Amino acid sequence: MERVFAEGERVGVLLTEPLGRALTGVLDYRAPEGGCGTGDFVEVPLGPRRMLGVVWGPGDGSFDENRLRSVTRVLDARPMRAELRQFLTRAADYTMTPLPAMLRLATRAPGLGEPPGQRRVYRLSGPVPNRLTDARLRVIEALRGFGGAAVTLGELTDAADCSASVVKGLVTAGVLAEVEAPRDLPYPDLTPTGSTTLLGDQVTAAQALVKAVAQGGYGTTLLKGVTGSGKTEVYLEAVAECLRNGRQALVLLPEIALTAEFLTRVEARFGARPAEWHSGATQTERRRLWKMVSEGRAQMVVGARSALFLPFQQLGLIVVDEEHDTSYKQEEGAFYNARDMAVLRASICGAQVVLASATPSLESWVNADQGRYTRLDLGARYGSAELPEMRAIDMRAERLASNRWISDPLAAAVQARQAAGEQSLLFLNRRGYAPVTLCRACGEQVGCDACDARMVEHRFLGRLVCHQCGATKPVPVACPSCGVEGRMAPVGPGVERLAEEVAERFPEARLAILSSDLFGSARALKERIEEIAAGGADIIIGTQIVAKGHNFPLLTLVGVIDADLGLQGSDMRAAERTFQLMRQVAGRAGRTGERRGLALLQTCQPEHPVIRSILGGDEEAFWKAEAAERRAAGVPPFGRMAGIILSGPDVAQVFDYGAELARRDGPLRRVGAMLYGPAPAPIARIRGRHRVRLLIKADRQTTLQPAIAEWLGQLRPPANLRVAVDIDPQSFF
Ligand code: ADP
Ligand code: ZN
Repeated sequence: MERVFAEGERVGVLLTEPLGRALTGVLDYRAPEGGCGTGDFVEVPLGPRRMLGVVWGPGDGSFDENRLRSVTRVLDARPMRAELRQFLTRAADYTMTPLPAMLRLATRAPGLGEPPGQRRVYRLSGPVPNRLTDARLRVIEALRGFGGAAVTLGELTDAADCSASVVKGLVTAGVLAEVEAPRDLPYPDLTPTGSTTLLGDQVTAAQALVKAVAQGGYGTTLLKGVTGSGKTEVYLEAVAECLRNGRQALVLLPEIALTAEFLTRVEARFGARPAEWHSGATQTERRRLWKMVSEGRAQMVVGARSALFLPFQQLGLIVVDEEHDTSYKQEEGAFYNARDMAVLRASICGAQVVLASATPSLESWVNADQGRYTRLDLGARYGSAELPEMRAIDMRAERLASNRWISDPLAAAVQARQAAGEQSLLFLNRRGYAPVTLCRACGEQVGCDACDARMVEHRFLGRLVCHQCGATKPVPVACPSCGVEGRMAPVGPGVERLAEEVAERFPEARLAILSSDLFGSARALKERIEEIAAGGADIIIGTQIVAKGHNFPLLTLVGVIDADLGLQGSDMRAAERTFQLMRQVAGRAGRTGERRGLALLQTCQPEHPVIRSILGGDEEAFWKAEAAERRAAGVPPFGRMAGIILSGPDVAQVFDYGAELARRDGPLRRVGAMLYGPAPAPIARIRGRHRVRLLIKADRQTTLQPAIAEWLGQLRPPANLRVAVDIDPQSFF
């Protein structure tokens, strides 16, 4: 039973905003008229403001009785369940994030306490005429893009980028209807029928997952299978079982552009679309989804990492698809890894977790190897589809003209696909035209004024862009350093520049460039991907967004322009990342099975162990070798690590603070942890703030967080200096 507090009783309310140095963020208030209970969403006064909070328990009595203020009101929302409160608390402790910041992640729905009410929404009501103005067409497309969700006038005009009169005109013409709808429509029921006939390994894997879900309780399974082996089909069986048991399922996808295909599959199989949670969703949709999830009336949610913080009533299953994907790690505000947090939440609420990937993270591979996770393998591709053949092109033997990046063997392969009416993908993980703009007179490279980073030329924009802070400036005519005019030159390739070479060499081919910065919205990107999948391009040039799960049936050749790119630098995950990325990209080829795919990797070091294991295909050997290296170095997952990033406007101050912290490392040494640094971060300045890193290493048995808290607690940072703690850091920028 949750505790109930009578009017006037002292309660502790967790606020959604961190308060100065109040570490817990829980403040004492009096229960309002009518009382309140633990978990209630409430509005409380704070100085002159009103703030959202959650009743966290009895007050701790730390605040003067006479100055105690009352909770303003209890909001009309389902109280937060004990399971979610515990999850937020443990996630905050683990990631060393202030609890209010965690609560904010769990309350990202506008007006969550307001009563339902009515509002005006727009629907298709009549046949769509063949001839429409552009603006009208955009409205219809936008409406379809919302996939049947209720859409308000503001949302529609935003999505279609038109004025209200265009929408009203369509209503007058009888194409759209304007209706009063309840604010929070329930989601259509999903019926877990219409299953696919599974084959071979798929049957065994699905049975195991279904059994685990049916039994209830916590467990994590690593579902490993090459792209196209049917992982999605298999975990949808687990989802179906979860729904049959009356529990909710959450499917996390790393990229919202991926959801389109997935939603269609769910609809085909369960008779309706699941609820969709992501940053591109409208406010109305967010609120509706949050409400419905909390009432148990959204059975299945598909979403980005933040969906993990939704108020599920009865969560039975969490799927983390492409679990190795780096976008699951949030590295701003709260630093957390959604994959790890999914496991934490499931262990608290007694749910199953499925981690699906063709190229698991080393962490998950080791967890399965050591028996903490169950492992299920799907051996082959579905049907007759085979994995692509992989070959290296030794670039040391190729004679490329200057500013050319496609070797003759690769060009010949592209030519052959074009002749056969098949698609080729050229992969280059570099956005923009050229990574460096150099002065040929003095050697100066154009950098960002606010960051320690070179600026990248983007020809489509006609400007230089800083990939750290987003600042832009025109490409200078005169060198900013030596003043010589007309000697500034682009150096190295980005996808836009590669496109020039492709256009020159294959003038007949229809080109498509897929790079996140070239699309205004996720929807635009999604549409372009669908077009390409339907055969709307012959040669696709893409950055890493093409590596993620998209299905291009006509694609039979993948050419990696620079397979060595990711191997440079000192990141301990360089090998793992390159291996994953190359295998994922190669996996795009030959998915349909009519023709075997081919992947060609241009490399200057074909004998490099990582390149050899990518080509060789003995994945287990790769993971074993990688695990052995990490074990020997005592780094994750065989040791613990935490990164501390200090940043501030005054470089000396940041270093002094870091040095002082390093001198006081007693609390860390007492638990056997080692402190390295301070050292300038690889990107030593972002947005005008100087960045300094410290790194803490300890063995696996050590619980680092309390020691870090004690250590940092010794020394108050100066007012304008930020201290960010990154437990289990994934990147070291
Ligand atoms: P993955 O998630 O491992 O990439 P998918 O589940 O997307 O694989 O399967 C790849 C393709 O093969 C999909 O188009 C899927 O519908 C199809 N497929 C997989 N298994 C079956 C099956 N048993 N029966 C029919 N189609 C299947
Ligand atoms: Zn910048």
